[in-house]
Amino acid sequence: MRLESFLQSFARLTQDSVIVIYSPAPDVEGSIVWCNDAFSKAFGHDDVDTLGNSISTLFEPVRYRAMLDEIRPDMIEGETGANAEVSCLRADGTTFWGNLQILYAPRDETGGRSSAGIIRDISNLKQREAKAAEALDEREAMAREAEALWSRLLLAIDSLDAPIGIWDKNQRLVICNKSFGPRLMGRPMPSEPDLTFQDFLREAAYAGTIMSTIGREEEWIAEAIAAMETGYIDNLETFSDGRAFLAKSELSANGDMVIHNIEMTDAIARERELSQKNQELAEAEQDARRRANRDDLTGLGNRRYMGACLDMLIEQYGDETGEIALLQIDLDRFKQINDTLGHAAGDHVLVVVSQRLTALLGVSDHLARIGGDEFVIIGSGQNIEDRARRLGAEIIEALSRPILFNDTSLRIGASVGIATTPISSGRDLLVHADVALYRSKSEGRGHVRVFDHTDLDKLRRSKAVGDEILIALEARQFVPWFQPQIDAATGQIVGLEALARWNHPERGILPPAIFIQQADDLNVLGELDRLIFETAIEACSKAFEGIPALDLSINVSEERLMSSDIDTFLKQAAAYPGKIAMELLETIFLEDRGETFRFQIDRLRDAGIGIELDDFGSGRASIVGLEQIAPDRLKIDRRLVGSAATSERSARLLRAIVDIGDALDIKVTAEGIETADQVKVLTALGCERLQGFWFGPPMPLDDVIRRFDLRPSLQRHTGS
Ligand code: C2E
Ligand code: CA
Ligand code: CA
Repeated sequence: MRLESFLQSFARLTQDSVIVIYSPAPDVEGSIVWCNDAFSKAFGHDDVDTLGNSISTLFEPVRYRAMLDEIRPDMIEGETGANAEVSCLRADGTTFWGNLQILYAPRDETGGRSSAGIIRDISNLKQREAKAAEALDEREAMAREAEALWSRLLLAIDSLDAPIGIWDKNQRLVICNKSFGPRLMGRPMPSEPDLTFQDFLREAAYAGTIMSTIGREEEWIAEAIAAMETGYIDNLETFSDGRAFLAKSELSANGDMVIHNIEMTDAIARERELSQKNQELAEAEQDARRRANRDDLTGLGNRRYMGACLDMLIEQYGDETGEIALLQIDLDRFKQINDTLGHAAGDHVLVVVSQRLTALLGVSDHLARIGGDEFVIIGSGQNIEDRARRLGAEIIEALSRPILFNDTSLRIGASVGIATTPISSGRDLLVHADVALYRSKSEGRGHVRVFDHTDLDKLRRSKAVGDEILIALEARQFVPWFQPQIDAATGQIVGLEALARWNHPERGILPPAIFIQQADDLNVLGELDRLIFETAIEACSKAFEGIPALDLSINVSEERLMSSDIDTFLKQAAAYPGKIAMELLETIFLEDRGETFRFQIDRLRDAGIGIELDDFGSGRASIVGLEQIAPDRLKIDRRLVGSAATSERSARLLRAIVDIGDALDIKVTAEGIETADQVKVLTALGCERLQGFWFGPPMPLDDVIRRFDLRPSLQRHTGS
C-alpha cells in the first residue's frame, strides 16, 4: 500500500495528465477507471464525468484513427508500452496537442488488462515546430527561385554575343558567358574555377583576337591590370573579325568585378561614316572658299581675297605705322589686244602677266587680279615705300618685255600707282593707289607714281567740292553767263552761247573748270545742264520781249541728251521766240552710236532745234560720223583758231573744214577769236560766225544787253 500511495501522490504532483484504463479483453476498447487532477484541469472534465468513459472520447475523432494506427504495433501482446502524438479533445470541444505515453500492465486471469496513460501538453513545442517547418519551406522556395534566376541569367548572358565575365574579389572567375572565351581568348572557356584574372589577361593578350594587343601584349596586360586596380576598365577593342566592343568593368557590392562588353561595331561604323562625310563636307567648303577667293583664269587671288589680305594686314600693323603698301597695276593696250586679236589672246596675256608678277613677289607680298586688266600687290614690312617703288619699277620692266602669242609678239606695258600707310588709311589704300595710277597714266604711260600728301589734299578738296556741288545744285547757285556770237559778214551780234558759272556764296563767280568734271563724276551734269538751260531760256525770253530774239546756244552733256525728260526740254525750247541750238561735244560722235542716240537727235532737229558740233578739229570726229549725224553747224576749236593766223598748216586744215561744211551744207563758227587778225583770217576762210574775247567774254545777260545796246528802244518804252 505504500507503493500505491506513492503512485497516488506522484499522479497528484505531476503537471502531466495521468489516467488508468481498463480493457476487459483484447480488441475491446478500454475505458477510464482513474484520473488525476491535472487531467481534469487539462481536459475540463471532473472525475465523475470521466470515469467509465471510453478512451476514444479523449481524442479528436478525425485524428483518432491515425493515432491508433501509429500505436497499434506497440499494442500487440508482449509490448510494455506505446508512444504517440495525439490531438486531445477538451470538454468544451477545443483541442490541444499532447504526447501520449501508455504503459501496459500484465493481463489478469480474466484476460483483461490495465494500462496507465500519461499525456503531456506539447502545444508549445508543436507551435515552434510548425514555425520552423514553415521557415524551412520558405528557404527552400527561395533557393529554388534563385536557382531558376541563375539559370535564366546564364541563358540570357549566353545568348549575348558580347562577352561578359564576372570575377570575384580574389580575382577568380565566377561565371562567364559562351562568347567570352572564343572572343577574348580564342578558345571556348572550359569550366576552370581556378582561372585568375591575370591568367585570363595573359591568354587574351597572346590569343591574337584583340587587334590592339598584337605586338604589344605585355604592355596591354600591364595597362589592363593597372586599369583594374584603379577600379575600372573602359576600353574600346576591335576584334579580329572586325567587330568592335567597348569593354567596361563594374564592381558589385560584394566585391565581384563584372567585365562586360558593349558591341560598338555599328556605332563605330556610323561614326566613321559620319566623320568621313564631315571631312568631305569640310573639304568641299574649303574648296568653295578657296574658289570664292580665286580668279579662275590666272589662279591668283581675286578682289575678295585682296580685301581679306588688306583686313589682315590692317589688323596686324594698324593704319598708323606706315608698313603697308598697295600697288595697283594697269596694263596698256590690253583692251586693244582683246578687241583686235580676240579673247584667247587677251587671256594669254593675263596669264603671262600674272606669272611675271608672281615671279617678282617677296615672301610677304600678296597678288590679286581685281578686274579685267587690273592687278594689285599688297606688301608689308619696314621701308615699305622704297620697296614698293622698286617693285613698281621691276613690274614696268617685266611687263615691257613682249609676250608671244601664236607667233605674234604682243607688246603691252604697264603703269603703276602706289599708296602707302599712313598717308592713306587702310580702307583708302585702294582708292588712293587708283588716283596715283590715274595720275601716272596722265603723265604718260610706263610710270610708277606714289600717292602723296599733295594728292591727299587735292582729293580732300575735290571731295569737299563734290559735296558742295550737290548743295549748290539744290540752292540753284549755278547760273548762265552769255558770250556773244557775231555774224562775220555784218559784224552784228546774232547769237549767245550760254555758259555755266557757279555763283559761290564765298568764293564768288567760279568757271566750269572747277565743277563740270566733278558734276559729271557725281552724275549730276544732266541736272546742271537742265538748270542752266531753264534759267537761260527764261532770262532771254524776258530780256528779248518786244525785240528780235538772239539765237541761243546751249551746251548739252550726253547725260542730258539721253535723259528721259527731253520732252520738257523740247516744250521749253519751243516757247523761246528765237532759234535754239544744242552744242554737243565732238567726242559724243566718236563712238558708234546706237539707234536711241540718233533718234534723240532727230527729235531735236524735228522740233526746230539746231545741232552744233562743239570743239570741232580738236581731234577725232570722223567725216562718216559727220555725215550720219548731219549737224547744222561746226564750232571750230579755239586751239585751231589760235594757230590759223600764224601756221600755214592750220590755215589749210581750217580751209578744208570749211570746204567740208560747204559740201555737206554745214555752217561754221570760229571760237576763241582774240585778235583783229584772227577776225580777218577766219572771215576770209569762210567762217560764217565768230565768237571770242575780241567781241566779248562770257558775261551776265544784263552786261550783254548794255554792251550791245539790245534794250527795246527806250523811246518806245518812254513813249508809251
Ligand atoms: P566751250 O563749250 O568750248 O565753251 C567755250 C569756252 O571758251 C568758254 O569757257 C569760254 O569762256 C572760252 N572762250 C571763249 N572765247 C574765248 C577766247 O577768245 N579765248 C579763250 N582763251 N577762251 C575763250 P568756259 O566758260 O570756261 O567753259 C568751258 C567749258 O565748259 C565749255 O567749253 C563747255 O564745254 C563747258 N560748259 C560750260 N557751260 C556748260 C554747261 O552749261 N553745260 C555743259 N555740259 N558744259 C558746259
Ligand atoms: Ca560750247
Ligand atoms: Ca567749244
